[in-house]
Amino acid sequence: MTDKWVYRFGDGTAEGTADMLELLGGKGANLAEMSTMGLPVPPGFTVTTGVCTAFYANDHAYPDGLQSEIDSALAGIEAIVESEFGNPDNPLLVSVRSGGAASMPGMMDTVLNLGLNDETVAGLSHSSGDERFAYDSYRRFIQMYSDVVLGVEHHLFEGLLDDHKNQRGLVLDTDLDADDWKEVVETYKAQVFQDLGVPFPQDPQEQLWNAMGSVFGSWMNQRAVSYRRLHKIPTHWGTAVNIQAMVFGNMGEDCATGVAFTRNPATGENTFYGEYLLNAQGEDVVSGIRTPQHLTIAAKSNNCATDLPAMEEIMPGVFAELERVRHTLEHHYHDMQDIEFTIQNNRLWMLQTRTGKRTAAAALKIACDMVAEGLITKTQAVQRINPESLDQLLHPTLDPDADREIIARGIAASPGAAAGKVVFSADDAEGMAKDGEDVILVRMETSPEDIHGMHAAKGILTSRGGSTSHAAVVARGMGRPCVVGVGELRIDYKNQTMTARDVTVGAGETITIDGAAGEVMLGRVPTTEPTLSGDFGALMVWADEIRTMGIRTNAETPADAETALRFGAEGIGLSRTEHMFFDADRIVAVRQMILAPDVEGRRLALAKILPMQRENFAQLFRIMEGKPVTIRLLDPPLHEFLPHNAEEFVEVAEAAGIDPEYVRVRTMELQEVNPMLGHRGCRLGITYPEIYEMQCRAIFEATAAVTKETQIPVAPEIMIPLIATKAEFDILKILVDRVADAVSVETGAKLNYLTGTMIELPRAALRAGEIAENAEFFSYGTNDLTQTTLGMSRDDSAMFLRSYETQGVLEHDPFVSIDVDGVGELLKIATERGRATRPNIKLGICGEHGGDPESVRFCAHMGLDYVSCSPYRVPIARLAAAQAEIN
Ligand code: ADP
Ligand code: MG
Ligand code: MG
Repeated sequence: MTDKWVYRFGDGTAEGTADMLELLGGKGANLAEMSTMGLPVPPGFTVTTGVCTAFYANDHAYPDGLQSEIDSALAGIEAIVESEFGNPDNPLLVSVRSGGAASMPGMMDTVLNLGLNDETVAGLSHSSGDERFAYDSYRRFIQMYSDVVLGVEHHLFEGLLDDHKNQRGLVLDTDLDADDWKEVVETYKAQVFQDLGVPFPQDPQEQLWNAMGSVFGSWMNQRAVSYRRLHKIPTHWGTAVNIQAMVFGNMGEDCATGVAFTRNPATGENTFYGEYLLNAQGEDVVSGIRTPQHLTIAAKSNNCATDLPAMEEIMPGVFAELERVRHTLEHHYHDMQDIEFTIQNNRLWMLQTRTGKRTAAAALKIACDMVAEGLITKTQAVQRINPESLDQLLHPTLDPDADREIIARGIAASPGAAAGKVVFSADDAEGMAKDGEDVILVRMETSPEDIHGMHAAKGILTSRGGSTSHAAVVARGMGRPCVVGVGELRIDYKNQTMTARDVTVGAGETITIDGAAGEVMLGRVPTTEPTLSGDFGALMVWADEIRTMGIRTNAETPADAETALRFGAEGIGLSRTEHMFFDADRIVAVRQMILAPDVEGRRLALAKILPMQRENFAQLFRIMEGKPVTIRLLDPPLHEFLPHNAEEFVEVAEAAGIDPEYVRVRTMELQEVNPMLGHRGCRLGITYPEIYEMQCRAIFEATAAVTKETQIPVAPEIMIPLIATKAEFDILKILVDRVADAVSVETGAKLNYLTGTMIELPRAALRAGEIAENAEFFSYGTNDLTQTTLGMSRDDSAMFLRSYETQGVLEHDPFVSIDVDGVGELLKIATERGRATRPNIKLGICGEHGGDPESVRFCAHMGLDYVSCSPYRVPIARLAAAQAEIN
């Protein structure tokens, strides 16, 4: 096999295709695809990711044959555009751009106008007939190349440009004429010489190879490395380099450059969404140097921030072509695209397309709309939504009736409402968030260095930039509410204040932002819960049609149960009864029960708790209307309910009518060295059977009463926690059945119930075969099972888990996502052995993992009957379960 290092595109053909993502990177593969589709793409070629890999494998040496492949590909471009690289009379200029298989925004930089030098700039001036344009391009090139390739900081050049403007009394870049740019170019070159001791490189071949080398070099820079670590992108993928003939958006008023999304990436609305700048080049649009203009008349009139003309108004012909490209791309890719384009003398050129990043709300709307438009199937729609991202839709928005004092308006960049204390740096945001504060990160603009602070913040606010600025794009990706381009906001980093309309807000004061309306408000504005209707409901219906695994919820309060039902829970998988013990109206009785010296004393106290507990269960049963409800009998060690200090001892003693000293002594007696492994779970039931008897009685009496009252049979599932041995289970099963029989006789009701256990100790998983002889269901308690399998206390693991993750000891936090190899194997063993004994045994999991998409997938593959998770994660689990079914 001969290695091929270079793939050409342009002029209606290409050697690559969109699915050659790994070899050509996203940018290169899609440039090739667009070219073959017949879209206008300037000719160029992609140097493959294979070269990057070879470069690092061979001590920064390029593979044989690369040179000649590049030479001939370059000649190919020259033939198409009829100019010549390095020819002083008619120079070809190129852009050099990086692009790997996964997009890494902002991680690697582009060099434009490469091929310019003191001679070719004159040739460009001549061939274009526009001297100003030629020198404007040259100064851009010197600045970019020096920054990206030579490491001369770009702010030095900005300083020189400012000096020049100040000396001449000029304000905007557009005020500078050809002579101005010539002088600026000279100062730039002098700056490079001063910094590096050598002149700015004049040889175009040297420029080209060094630019390419620096793209490959940047694959291993710190930012790129940490971005890859954060996003789990393997290093061996490498980056490709795209070399492409330049087209010029800076050649006059019939030229422009812009970026757009084929649909609105914030709301998902099927409208063209983008910005452009007249007479500008490259990244001027995203850099926030000038305020970009809207593409469409509609977008312009919806937004009072600018009254500059829309492209639709002043370039109707090119705009119409761009609209056609928009439809062509969507019909080809069947997804919303994020595009970059340049217009040279009223002619459109496409420079990039990729799948556009979007908010969760937009993703949902786009998927549903595309099903309606016949672009994708329902199954594809279900596959396309990241379950985790639904979380964003389940969170509050501003209460429409609440008073609000708006102090500034900007561009609505990422929806959702957030309130918090103002901070002006990413480090402050991270620091205060660690201390449990809600913060809003306020910056003039953001850059990749701010990512950690954006992550830590509840919301992001910037005074500059448009809807495609760094802040906007990153915030949407993270699901953080974000308002950008608040032009009326003056930020003073030094004094740590921001001022708008005479209101000054200092660091630490609270503001609220509404990322859907683009508003900034003083103080904390109340929020309302989201309603889950329309597209959300439709997607959930499609997911439910696909999935076979049930989804239940963990709930003990009526409010939780109701929320979970709204979100589509099909039952309760875990109701923790201890939460009911803490209620203010019964904690006294609970403590009395624990402090009692003997069985009689305990029974007396338990009799007071019984009616209250019964009413708790009755409420849950009524809400669940016959859906299964798994109730876990008391689990935590008793001392958790007892007072902790002298003052409380007295309080409790008075309430219970006993001696404070007795309370103190009994409390001390109940202390445990290692409560997690101590007197808890079924061990309580074995030593104090009267507690479980009371709970079972409460459950069965409520079952009988609610069944009679509603005429819908209640389906309780009694779950015994922390079983390690069959003997424990058998003893307690007899207890459960005995109470059920008694209640049945007393009430005359026929009780239908299951008795099962949590599998949360490794021994129980291993002995699942014999435990299943009497247990009718297993619920995998993966929280404790993770603790006991790894021998790792969840509450203490924060101390070392981070360095475990960074050093690669563990791939992820095992308390968030199931440790598939260890805990997962125990689950498989328990499942196999349990089913071998009792083929129809009901299997589910409760615990945090029930709402983690990865873990849900794992459970679906094991064929569990259901997962149970917290109410807000029910939709996430429904979608994840459907996706598991599809794959
Ligand atoms: P990023 O990965 O940051 O999006 P790109 O490689 O897409 O960087 O380049 C940034 C911008 O440079 C493009 O959006 C485009 O405006 C400009 N650009 C790149 N190549 C060319 C070209 N051949 N002609 C004109 N402009 C170009
Ligand atoms: Mg870039
Ligand atoms: Mg780009």
